[in-house]
Amino acid sequence: MRIEEVLAKTILTKSNLPVSDYSANPYIGCEHACKYCYASFMRRFTNHPEEWGGFVDVKTWPELKHPEKYSGCEVFLSSVTDPYQPLESRYCRTRRLLQELQGHDVRLSIATKSDLVLRDIDLIGTFRNARVSWSINTLDEGFREEMDRAVSIERRFAAMKEFHDAGIRTTCFISPIFPGITDVAAIIGRAKNICNLVWLENLNLRGNFKGAIMSWIHERHPELEGLYHNIYTRRDLSYWYELDEQVRNFCRSNNLPYVRNDDRMSRDFDAPPVVVNYFFHEEITR
Ligand code: SF4
Repeated sequence: MRIEEVLAKTILTKSNLPVSDYSANPYIGCEHACKYCYASFMRRFTNHPEEWGGFVDVKTWPELKHPEKYSGCEVFLSSVTDPYQPLESRYCRTRRLLQELQGHDVRLSIATKSDLVLRDIDLIGTFRNARVSWSINTLDEGFREEMDRAVSIERRFAAMKEFHDAGIRTTCFISPIFPGITDVAAIIGRAKNICNLVWLENLNLRGNFKGAIMSWIHERHPELEGLYHNIYTRRDLSYWYELDEQVRNFCRSNNLPYVRNDDRMSRDFDAPPVVVNYFFHEEITR
């Protein structure tokens, strides 16, 4: 693992994501090394010859001059890499940013695959509007281990529960949904009493990792090759429409609201989670 400290001009950048006003990436690169990582394109932009997961640049930045200007804004950590990857336990860069923003009425949104975020639960709890999401696309630890180097699914659920018990909003981000592998209903069943929102995102295959995923399917799930070919080469969307219908029925029978692209923080904390279909926000293939 190649680790370098780099000086950034600023840490918060205007976001063009629909879910936030600003985003921050204290790290470039990600130790979790997910096989399907959309951010692996960063290698090219940052001149890193190493494999994705084989380097991390740790940012240092000048202190925020006017943190009050972010009051009322939603800040997303992180849009490209995981803000609580293992190096955060040593460098505390995400923690430092939270300390800089603390007390300025920022709406905070954190996305991770780690339970290291528990270290900062008290700090995060001081933000009036905060939510933390964990990506969970399987209950099968074997599949998880083949796809990423983050903590186990059980540890992610345990962290989600601890935040939820502490009165901090949580999201179960079921992403990426692997056709024929991800059991969406089973994951919602596990999460529904410890989260406020469930997001569903389909697997997109683009860039270099399309070949890696298709080879993995060929090797480990040859029975799914035809399905993946239909979706990712022939661009047949019927799998997603059928899944949409299945999830709609599951939600109906479990009294869970099922909507598209609704990301509000304002619902009753104790209300059942809303399940959000976020399919097709990007093309399935490129
Ligand atoms: S945790 Fe997120 S950023 Fe890190 S490798 Fe996995 S998908 Fe990419």
